[in-house]
Amino acid sequence: MFHAFLIKYAEIAIKGKNRYLFEDALIKQMKIALEKVEGEFDVQKEQGRVYVYCKSDYDFDEVMEALTRVFGIVGISPVVIYEDKGFEQMGKDVLSYMKEHHPGYAGTFKVHTRRAKKSYPMTSMEVSSELGGVILEEFQDASVDVHHPQLNLTVEIRDKIYVYSRTIPGPGGMPVGTNGKAMLLLSGGIDSPVAGYMIAKRGVRIEAVYFHAPPYTSERAKQKVVDLAKLVARYSGPIRLHVVNFTDIQLYIYDKCPHEELTIIMRRYMMRIAEHFAKERKCLGLITGESIGQVASQTMQSLAATNEVCTLPVYRPVIGFDKQEIVEIAHKIDTFETSIQPFEDCCTIFVAKHPVTKPNLKVIKRSEEKLEEKIEDLVREAIETTEVIDVEQM
Ligand code: ATP
Ligand code: MG
Repeated sequence: MFHAFLIKYAEIAIKGKNRYLFEDALIKQMKIALEKVEGEFDVQKEQGRVYVYCKSDYDFDEVMEALTRVFGIVGISPVVIYEDKGFEQMGKDVLSYMKEHHPGYAGTFKVHTRRAKKSYPMTSMEVSSELGGVILEEFQDASVDVHHPQLNLTVEIRDKIYVYSRTIPGPGGMPVGTNGKAMLLLSGGIDSPVAGYMIAKRGVRIEAVYFHAPPYTSERAKQKVVDLAKLVARYSGPIRLHVVNFTDIQLYIYDKCPHEELTIIMRRYMMRIAEHFAKERKCLGLITGESIGQVASQTMQSLAATNEVCTLPVYRPVIGFDKQEIVEIAHKIDTFETSIQPFEDCCTIFVAKHPVTKPNLKVIKRSEEKLEEKIEDLVREAIETTEVIDVEQM
């Protein structure tokens, strides 16, 4: 049983004066994550380090699952804490730690001592070499390697003695809430949940907008998007999801515009509406799961044409990724299986057999003029009838 977890965070440590803001955001997100775990935990900032103290029984795997989703954490070291009862006892404690956590250890190791309590009567070097000797006596097949040890045993001398030897990797990134907010265009596909995850990983809070087209797209297709938002929310925190009824706009475009331009024009209206909500919700950018050349609507020309309607920056974190690279992340964050559920997508329903791959902006704009009569009303109605779903962090 570990008494505490030492949290390692690299990126936020280099932020100078803002450091405390980042640490506070990290601690806040850790507390939120740990609320979902059975047991009592105390998250503490001490001398530039963050510890989780375990105040009750807990399930180790559950704690790991929660903490490995907190952006900003680089590594988690489970710590055993011993009372400081003099050096001799420290030796015994370190041995019992080794016996329990590395029984029969026969590889190379190094003892690393950190003296947070500067009044301790021995130097760090002395403690390390003495403890190394104690370990060697008991573990006769082990050997010391100070340069590339297979096992790094750290002993921190504080009011008590902290011992740890393992670091479980965290997700990295920056704590959510340190970098403003952005609006994710979340479809039911593989790419957009990954895109949302990647931007959230940089400390950005996210909201989302989904365009559905009942009765052409079903309730289940919508539920799938809610499920995806839930999965992303495990990392990003709660997501406000705006579900826009896009049917009338799509039908109107279908009715008035050349079918090969349908997707591009539709995407331009999606971006316009997404930007409306983004501004209303004080988001500083839009996020999409677009990747150059993946489909006709994602050629450089198509991207330029959709981008043209936006004034906010559009973040496309998977823009240079191959599908396989996106799929790998989708697996890692556990959205893949949900994304591949076969429900209809509003883009595929009205899609033309031969969509333009190199749309000419002038031509597209001229086609959009054919929508003049009703489009403003339809957009306003879509905005007014938008359903808001607050997706909680599981
Ligand atoms: P994804 O896997 O994310 O669905 P995709 O490969 O299917 O992407 P498109 O359908 O061309 O690609 O969509 C490109 C991007 O546009 C998506 O990543 C998403 O950000 C946005 N998008 C597409 N359809 C919708 C929708 N129905 N609602 C919200 N956003 C959408
Ligand atoms: Mg899609």
